[in-house]
Amino acid sequence: MGLFRATRYVASLPLVSVDELVDAGVELVLLDRDNTCVPRDAREAPAEVTEWLARVRAAGMTACLVSNNFHTSQVSRTARELGVEFVDHAMKPLPWALRRAMRRAGASADRTVMIGDQVFTDVAAGNLAGVRTVLVRPQSRSDLWYTHVFRVFERLALRGVSFEGE
Ligand SMILES: [Mg+2]
Repeated sequence: MGLFRATRYVASLPLVSVDELVDAGVELVLLDRDNTCVPRDAREAPAEVTEWLARVRAAGMTACLVSNNFHTSQVSRTARELGVEFVDHAMKPLPWALRRAMRRAGASADRTVMIGDQVFTDVAAGNLAGVRTVLVRPQSRSDLWYTHVFRVFERLALRGVSFEGE
């Protein structure tokens, strides 16, 4: 399992099967915010994301945003709107924020999944933390300038990978 390899590739967050997470024994769902839950060109998560998180909670799992976004107010507002916990200034791909969220939820690595839209932050952080990972497609074409740079390398890392649901 390479650092930049995800466990699963799925077209979007709402297409990640909640039943499969339950069957895999997942207790904690770590979520990237920007372009995973909330498109970068929108202020709020789409209804499908809100509904997906309701299903996650109904299944007894804990969800927590783990965001590199340095605007704490944006991250905390989204967490409130979605009814989930959050860790901001996460500094992914460093795994510390993921470990902090796991400690807080009392979840072990083998019962945790990290879901995000970037190989070099979300997937790498998940692998360094020893959790399973799901890479989703970015939910908008809008990205920070340095993310656009990473996307070029990301396309190389994703050669030959197919995403479920597309
Ligand atoms: Mg993102």
